[in-house]
Amino acid sequence: MDKVAASLRQTREGSRNVRIRSHSRDRSFQRLTSEINGLLDQFQLTEMEFHKSESARKKLITNISHDLRTPLTSVLGYLEVLRKDTSISEVEREQYTEIIWQKSNRLYELTESFFQLAKLDDDEVGLRRSEINLSAMIKEIWLSYIPQIEDAGTKGEVCFPDNDLIVSTDRISVERILGNLLSNSLKYGAAGGVIGLTLSQREDEVLIEIWDKGPGISEDHLLHIFDRLYTVDSSRNGPVKGSGLGLAIAMELATKQGGKLWGTSLPNVRTSFFFTLPKSSLKI
Ligand code: ADP
Repeated sequence: MDKVAASLRQTREGSRNVRIRSHSRDRSFQRLTSEINGLLDQFQLTEMEFHKSESARKKLITNISHDLRTPLTSVLGYLEVLRKDTSISEVEREQYTEIIWQKSNRLYELTESFFQLAKLDDDEVGLRRSEINLSAMIKEIWLSYIPQIEDAGTKGEVCFPDNDLIVSTDRISVERILGNLLSNSLKYGAAGGVIGLTLSQREDEVLIEIWDKGPGISEDHLLHIFDRLYTVDSSRNGPVKGSGLGLAIAMELATKQGGKLWGTSLPNVRTSFFFTLPKSSLKI
């Protein structure tokens, strides 16, 4: 008993690798020490997970602050010039106003995305399931993207099953997931000249694939692109502004619906993002 008490005290005082070794033949005592050791294992694991998530949280806050500060600094800088510099020409004034407009929009989009993720974490986003014709809805979403697809100078290719797929699902989540995936194909894959969408029905799920033939994503990056704020090389600061939140949001929404989301990439051949909805939600 003294050993047990000493081990528990050591744990309370900060030691994490203490385990009780009992040579007693008393069965109940053996059971007790084994239960206590199990509890100590669990305690150590919980503490490690807590430290991991704490450090991820700190990193996230640092990155969020950086992402918000950059456009805000720029907005303030240009506003300062507009306010104080009386010598600027009308053309410059228009240019600066345009930059302020763009940067402010980026700030707005960023805060919206952060807000969305925070709500998803808090389970505040209740799914509003309703019976929808998935085929018709996805066709509608695709049609709304045609002007952007044409503006990007790419072709669009769609493939739908002959029969309509009716599912019970949250329309807004599906719209958002597809919107994020289509925007990514446009942002990063337009150079491949074609962007596609395929809807199909598998044994136990509905599968939606958004694909392009752009430069794609290397295997190393594929492992991380669903992490919050993860962007590949210069997409954070390059000409195509990325925040690294779109796929994280899409993943949260897909998981909440009981669906899956993953990506595959063969650069310049086919980069695909697959999104599934479980068959339980399929009505016919
Ligand atoms: P964002 O686009 O805002 O950076 P996402 O979370 O949507 O954030 O995407 C994460 C990263 O994944 C992007 O920065 C981009 O580098 C990469 N990515 C996503 N979709 C594609 C695609 N279709 N082709 C190439 N890279 C992609």
